[in-house]
Amino acid sequence: MPRRSSDAEAQGHQIPLIGATSGTANTQSAEEATPYERIKAMILSNAIPPDTKLTIDQLARDLGVSQTPIREALQRLEGDRLVVSKKPRGIWTTPLLDGRELMHLMEVRLLMEPWAVSVVSTDRAVNPGRKMLAEIERFAHLPNGRHEGYELASHDVAFHDMIFDAVGNGFLHDAFRHLHAHLHLFRLYPADLDGTHTIEEHRAIAEAVHRADPEAAAEAMRHHIFEAMDRFSSGLSTPGGHGRFHDVRTGVLRHPE
Ligand SMILES: [Zn+2]
Repeated sequence: MPRRSSDAEAQGHQIPLIGATSGTANTQSAEEATPYERIKAMILSNAIPPDTKLTIDQLARDLGVSQTPIREALQRLEGDRLVVSKKPRGIWTTPLLDGRELMHLMEVRLLMEPWAVSVVSTDRAVNPGRKMLAEIERFAHLPNGRHEGYELASHDVAFHDMIFDAVGNGFLHDAFRHLHAHLHLFRLYPADLDGTHTIEEHRAIAEAVHRADPEAAAEAMRHHIFEAMDRFSSGLSTPGGHGRFHDVRTGVLRHPE
């Protein structure tokens, strides 16, 4: 069932907890962040590059902790598909998505998210439109953090999570979380570093939800997923995947005209 993060916000050096499941983007001070969160942040920011061998001993020294919490952190990161054990060769960060994986991820999102957003637009009791608009305003008016990449990812996690939270279907919400979509997408070059396009597309979705227009909300969500797919494709690990997206556009999931 959906779980809510209770991580407190703290001042000082901020490490956004990408993948946190609260209604707003969460941050935490470096001192309070667990080894799991700190290593995850290093992988997502490419401070540890994709397809790189990790040494437990080195990580323990770098983070100033013993090996046990590092081992526990790596187990969780394996669940996130950010690291992989290659026996007998040790633990490696996973490579970036390739074109085919990006397309598959977006196909699943196209199956889930337009439906989810239309459901919450038809149920006035759970309509999250106001909350979604408030999250967009929060992000749009960040003093300078928007350009730090992570802020965009944290905003995107918070925004999409609000929709699944409002649907209230625990199976669907878990399925979305298990995609770890944001963890993988935001390791690619997002091609929208200041979030301008994301804000525009999110606003179209949130306004349609707020005025309880399920068709417009679903179309705006489809548009956002296709546009995001194009943006993230510029960061693909293998060139040439881009042409495959045409298959999605002309298929049953159809691109809005
Ligand atoms: Zn989004």
